[in-house]
Amino acid sequence: MTRYSAFAVVKNALTGHKGWREQWPDAEPKKEYDVIIVGAGGHGLGAAYYLAREHGITNVAVIDKGWLGGGNTGRNTTIIRSNYLYDESAKLYDHALDLWDGLSQELNYNVMFSRRGVMMLAHNVHDVQSFQRHVHSNRLNGVDNRWLSPEEAKAFCPPLNISKDARYPVMGAALQMRAGTARHDAVAWGYARAAAARGVDIIQNCPVIAIRRGPDGAVTGVDTAKGFIGAKKVAVSAAGHTSVVMQSAGVRMPLESFPLQALVSEPVKPVFPCVVMSNTVHAYISQSDKGELVIGSGTDQYTSYSQRGGLPLIEHTVAAICEVFPIFNRMRMLRKWGGIVDVTPDRSAIIGKTPVKNLFVNCGWGTGGFKATPGAAHTLAHTVATGEPHPINAPFTLDRFRTGRLIDEAAAAAVAH
Ligand SMILES: Cc1cc2nc3c(=O)[nH]c(=O)nc-3n(C[C@H](O)[C@H](O)[C@H](O)COP(=O)(O)OP(=O)(O)OC[C@H]3O[C@@H](n4cnc5c(N)ncnc54)[C@H](O)[C@@H]3O)c2cc1C
Repeated sequence: MTRYSAFAVVKNALTGHKGWREQWPDAEPKKEYDVIIVGAGGHGLGAAYYLAREHGITNVAVIDKGWLGGGNTGRNTTIIRSNYLYDESAKLYDHALDLWDGLSQELNYNVMFSRRGVMMLAHNVHDVQSFQRHVHSNRLNGVDNRWLSPEEAKAFCPPLNISKDARYPVMGAALQMRAGTARHDAVAWGYARAAAARGVDIIQNCPVIAIRRGPDGAVTGVDTAKGFIGAKKVAVSAAGHTSVVMQSAGVRMPLESFPLQALVSEPVKPVFPCVVMSNTVHAYISQSDKGELVIGSGTDQYTSYSQRGGLPLIEHTVAAICEVFPIFNRMRMLRKWGGIVDVTPDRSAIIGKTPVKNLFVNCGWGTGGFKATPGAAHTLAHTVATGEPHPINAPFTLDRFRTGRLIDEAAAAAVAH
């Protein structure tokens, strides 16, 4: 694997950039693997990397129906934070945040993690009470989060409209300074490159059609567009398509799949220093390093696999952004897109074992799994390698929908980007 360094950049600049090697080979499937991971998003690729690095398991294939990172990993608005209400969630997302901190150095790939602060706006009394409860709960869990008055919020983010006449008046905000954004594609590419360098096969353009089980009910491999591929263990990390893939193994998942949309504006000079989220008006915004405003919307009202989403939601989102940030009234929007997110009834993820022997699942990240990428991948790898949950993902079982031990972030926050 080529090591990226200032020296390598200078050397290649002087030699016509002919010395760069491919970042990962496009592998053809072997007959059998120790582990097959379905889905080459950040979570699947990351799990393959941690399987190889932490557990010495390198006979691994990550299989994707399209190109790696082409699912929600390459479609999200890149918000990273860990200020969730419940202890279980705070631990999981803060574990991810710890891993984000050193990820560029670890992968020798610049994932552009930027701790610019995420500010969540309160527009009514309920928001104020709810976010202040988050601040207290987060502090008890050692997660940074503090309460700002409207004036302090404006000082932190000057384009914010704090006029009392606004349709959505700002009554305060919760600010997590350790939170921020990262470059989503680079996360997939960095994990892919580092996993491939350790011997992991990355197989693209190869839909998994079904998970196959033997006479004892245990997993034996997967049927794919390139034929049957044997596996001792299979982990499904297929986001919006998880329920379809799992159904082929006879496992019914408590998931619904919705389109979630985002859009970007024309690029402008740096005007927006942080990330701002408003759960009440259902819009969130940051500025990319290219200068585009990156704006996220809510999920569509209906389930679908269309990867497009409805225009009314975009209109609503843009109207809300203009209300909260009138400075952007005349910005032109360049493009919009959608991804299919997998939503559980309590809006918390599922990472762990399934009723099928040697079949594991990582899903239910809904609108907010990008921020969890390193943490989800790390704990999934542990579970697959050892057959037992990591203490951090232990509460995020599939079984909780039977036992009732929910982690109800839906009731706590309503949205979870
Ligand atoms: C518009 C939008 C905005 C978002 N904003 C944020 C945000 O700001 N912050 C945040 O934390 N999260 C956000 N999210 C959510 C986040 O993107 C996801 O939770 C996260 O990227 C999931 O990663 P993943 O690796 O599990 O899934 P994906 O990246 O979707 O990877 C799953 C892969 O599985 C593959 N696959 C599916 N079916 C099959 C099959 N049968 N065979 C083979 N391969 C298959 C797909 O092609 C895909 O590449 C957003 C999502 C969207 C859509």
